[in-house]
Amino acid sequence: MDVYRDFPLSKILYYKIGGKASFVLKVQNKEDLLDALGFIQKNKVKKILPIGLGSNLLVSDEPFKGAVLWFSREELKGKNSTLKLHSGNIIETFASVLLDDLIQFSFAHNLIGLEWAGGLPSTVGGAIRGNAGAFGSEIKDSVYEVEVLDLSNENYLIKTFSNDDLQFSYRNSLLKKNKNLIAVSGFFKLKKANKEDVEMAKQVYFSYIEHRKKYNPLEYPSCGSVFQNITEKEKTEAILAKWPDVEDLVSKKWHGKVAMGYIINRLGFSGMRIGGAEVSQKHANYILNKNKARFNDVLSIIDKIKAKFSQTFGFPPELELEIVK
Ligand SMILES: Cc1cc2nc3c(=O)[nH]c(=O)nc-3n(C[C@H](O)[C@H](O)[C@H](O)COP(=O)(O)OP(=O)(O)OC[C@H]3O[C@@H](n4cnc5c(N)ncnc54)[C@H](O)[C@@H]3O)c2cc1C
Repeated sequence: MDVYRDFPLSKILYYKIGGKASFVLKVQNKEDLLDALGFIQKNKVKKILPIGLGSNLLVSDEPFKGAVLWFSREELKGKNSTLKLHSGNIIETFASVLLDDLIQFSFAHNLIGLEWAGGLPSTVGGAIRGNAGAFGSEIKDSVYEVEVLDLSNENYLIKTFSNDDLQFSYRNSLLKKNKNLIAVSGFFKLKKANKEDVEMAKQVYFSYIEHRKKYNPLEYPSCGSVFQNITEKEKTEAILAKWPDVEDLVSKKWHGKVAMGYIINRLGFSGMRIGGAEVSQKHANYILNKNKARFNDVLSIIDKIKAKFSQTFGFPPELELEIVK
């Protein structure tokens, strides 16, 4: 396990925003994780922040006085200790494995079911915690079990949680509700497939990558969607009461949800810039780090959108990205 002291998080977080952390503990497999926990105990570190790619994180520019557990992709040197196949269709992955590496591994073993995540930047741990999803599918559909570390237990117990135990819902899970719980390993139950079905799954996977290139602003660092799309019935109705003309879009284009990108654009925020941060004109639910954006640049835009949204519809929008102050 590598230890970095006073390390600028902007160097490793997807958004390229974030202050220095007292310790960054680079964790690439279970052995590293045990070493990291030993380090935390020995140095009596109180504050712990797990991160993966940081593709859903906006972190303050102020120093983070604690240890960042950086679940980082294992450099593959011929062996791969972090991805294993069990009983024909269950894949075990360490939390730092990239979702994309898991997908490639599944295809190589004639297993399908994760192709919807083509182009979704995530580690396995981050995806489980936030129940990552796209194009009508979610990670919960394939999660069989997860090994979870409980930081509140002084012996650092690791327990196995079933899919039901994890209480998945839209972009949510038990791990998100309880910050002491860290995903250590995920077990994914996938579908056995013949060569033709694997080929078809690969086509779907590539088509989603193309879709993202076409419709998402991938040219600058971002955190993906800043706000959650609206899924609750009463909230959708409140929006339709104000903007009845979007009813068709909700039912025909957005699968019953209200797309926040559309709302933010219609509220007039596309292209709005504060400091180095800018609301994307390609997809208004993205706030881009256009030029050395600071934490407060992004936060100010978020606050402005929140205020205008609440004033218009009578309830606040929910954040999809996570803020660490
Ligand atoms: C261009 C772009 C497109 C995106 N598209 C989508 C999309 O289509 N669908 C979607 O759902 N998301 C999307 N996202 C958001 C992001 O990719 C997901 O939220 C992703 O799952 C985050 O994974 P991560 O490993 O980067 O987690 P991080 O951003 O590093 O962390 C996210 C949260 O999980 C916690 N965490 C990280 N690892 C662990 C762990 N092992 N155990 C417990 N907690 C942990 C962190 O503390 C943090 O609170 C997109 C982001 C970008 C930049």
